[in-house]
Amino acid sequence: MKVNPADFIRAIPDFPKPGIIFRDITPLLSNAEALRATIGHFVDRYQDQGITQVVGMEARGFIFGTALAHALGVGFVPLRKPGKLPGATLKQSYALEYGEDTLEMHSDALTAADKVVIIDDLLATGGTALAAVQLVEKSAAQLHECAFVITLQALPGVKRLDEAGIPHYTLCEF
Ligand code: IMP
Repeated sequence: MKVNPADFIRAIPDFPKPGIIFRDITPLLSNAEALRATIGHFVDRYQDQGITQVVGMEARGFIFGTALAHALGVGFVPLRKPGKLPGATLKQSYALEYGEDTLEMHSDALTAADKVVIIDDLLATGGTALAAVQLVEKSAAQLHECAFVITLQALPGVKRLDEAGIPHYTLCEF
């Protein structure tokens, strides 16, 4: 019988601070069948779509993104926190609850000939995903869809992506 990836996502209360319920994907990663089912689900969705690169954000987007890229037979482009990439970068800042953060991508990582899927473990407020979309837009590559393992429905990420006209897809909703 096929496993349900949602059964392998653990809720940890009061992490990283009181009042937050953290959705922990490490049980999903450490279970071979759950990991295979998760990646297989995205492969079924994105194979034969003309995808040329998978884009994933630091840090958990790297895990799912690299596995997906490998299975699709395409490349992987990492989006990193500031100052980590050695070459010339495109930068996009986004608002956090307190302050702001920035994502960077190598300027030559994508071209207008690329069609990409952006993948991350989780969509919450949508700030990270929208910054990733803006980096892909700056590169002139075509965005096919944003993919998430988890979407938190109580937070505004889905609404913000919908309002921006960005296609998105999620495996599990909480
Ligand atoms: P957003 O920018 O508010 O949508 O937050 C999404 C980013 O925060 C993703 O890169 C996630 O990895 C991370 N994140 C936020 N909440 C959680 C959680 O409960 N579990 C795992 N990652 C989270």
